[in-house]
Amino acid sequence: MQTIEHWIDGTSTAGDGTRSAPVYNPATGQVQSRVRLAEKSDVDTAVASARAAFDDWHELSLAKRTEILFRFRELLTAHTDELAGVITDEHGKTLDDARGEVARGREVVDFACGIAHLLKGAYSDQVSTGVDAWSLRAPLGVCAGITPFNFPAMVPLWMHPIAIAAGNTFVLKPSERDPSAALILARLWQRAGLPDGVFTVLHGDAVAVDALLDHPDVAAVSFVGSTPIARHVYQRGTAAGKRVQALGGAKNHAVVLPDADLADAARQITGAAYGSAGQRCMAISAVVAVGDCADDLVAALAELARGVRVGAGRDAGTELGPVITAQAAERIVGHVERATADGATLVVDRREQPGDGFFVGPCLLDHVGVDQEIYRTEVFGPVLAVLRAATLDEAIALVNANPYGNGAAIFTGSGAAARRFGREVTAGMVGINVPIPVPMAYHAFGGWKDSLFGDTHVYGTEGVAFYTRAKAVTARWPRGAAAPQYHFPTS
Ligand code: NAD
Repeated sequence: MQTIEHWIDGTSTAGDGTRSAPVYNPATGQVQSRVRLAEKSDVDTAVASARAAFDDWHELSLAKRTEILFRFRELLTAHTDELAGVITDEHGKTLDDARGEVARGREVVDFACGIAHLLKGAYSDQVSTGVDAWSLRAPLGVCAGITPFNFPAMVPLWMHPIAIAAGNTFVLKPSERDPSAALILARLWQRAGLPDGVFTVLHGDAVAVDALLDHPDVAAVSFVGSTPIARHVYQRGTAAGKRVQALGGAKNHAVVLPDADLADAARQITGAAYGSAGQRCMAISAVVAVGDCADDLVAALAELARGVRVGAGRDAGTELGPVITAQAAERIVGHVERATADGATLVVDRREQPGDGFFVGPCLLDHVGVDQEIYRTEVFGPVLAVLRAATLDEAIALVNANPYGNGAAIFTGSGAAARRFGREVTAGMVGINVPIPVPMAYHAFGGWKDSLFGDTHVYGTEGVAFYTRAKAVTARWPRGAAAPQYHFPTS
């Protein structure tokens, strides 16, 4: 059976570790390969390589760095199908969905191709007599990325193209559940001409993560994953003096007002709830039906949920693939079981699916209450919970009381209601008749509350700010002798 190795210094390596983890094909339930798990000494080797590569990489001209980025972009486009195939085989999502993830990740490379423009500082002439001043942004050094299983290509692409373009080197610790996409990215970077050591892939679990968080030569850490681990990464990384952005879990609400196009809202919400088997950080998992539209909306959602085609991600026509592991399937099924015991109405129950894969079909729960476990927990599966509210005020208060604040959407025909929702809801990304409002690469992605620890969102200009630090230079070229100044200089 193949063992998936690390990528350090431009080459595949087993490192020192003897531990490994199984990588499943979720559609068959079979182990298809094993992935090496790094020990602390492997982290030391990887970071030393990245540290050594930084010296030359950040000195390379912007023109040469940009050339490599453009070549990488072309290779990424050409290898989309190869990446999508590997993602489908290890994650389970459909091929179309996997291609979409690569395309959304590539948009960040498009953005990073403009790095010369993004790094331009500001210049002020003659700030004092004979004195000029300018500001610039310098790279940090070695940056690390720790990423989740649900987007094995896109989330790493949210981070490292900008970090690398800005002159840093990058150590990626991808999810051990679907580790192969990261290695394809590493090979493409090498073919694009990226010097060895600038992009490293280190496979592993908590041992590798903690060693990266403690390592004195890692300057910054970007994390995306569940909230408890995001909190841990933020606390441990910042305690070690690093810059950290740690994106956590979510409970994304769709508020539906009676004046919405209900059929359209139901279709949009169904795709956002069950696409990728609900394993998206921006999946809609809670609907808040306002006023008298609730029964009609639930009926429309139920009809759509009954028609979702469940199957292997490689099969044409599949709309909902398997979830990531047998444990995840068990956990999701258990949540639905307890929701009914807690008083929710199970309107659509497609938990039972044939085959050996990790399949859970779409489930729809109505009359869910804010105190029920199904609402309080991030289920991360194809389960949609409907809550009811009498007014928009009540709906906004409900959404804002939730500890997560990643995405929130409103479906309405009223501009005034949409505007109010957009201004008042405590979430980092808001959709108006858009169920999954993932910002484009030139904006930035990030949640509020327990969905993000740190100050900056990922990618966009916030990404550039995260991976660089500011420097202000004041310059004077003396013309003739000047007397010493003992007072604080004024202009
Ligand atoms: P996870 O938190 O289990 O794992 C994320 C990363 O942390 C992996 O690389 C994993 O190896 C590592 N890790 C796991 N346990 C650890 C520990 N004890 N100590 C240190 N590191 C550890 O998340 P997951 O199951 O891979 O991904 C799903 C989660 O990610 C969901 O909660 C989802 O909402 C979230 N997510 C959030 C966003 C966002 O943008 N906010 C995006 C994608 C996914």
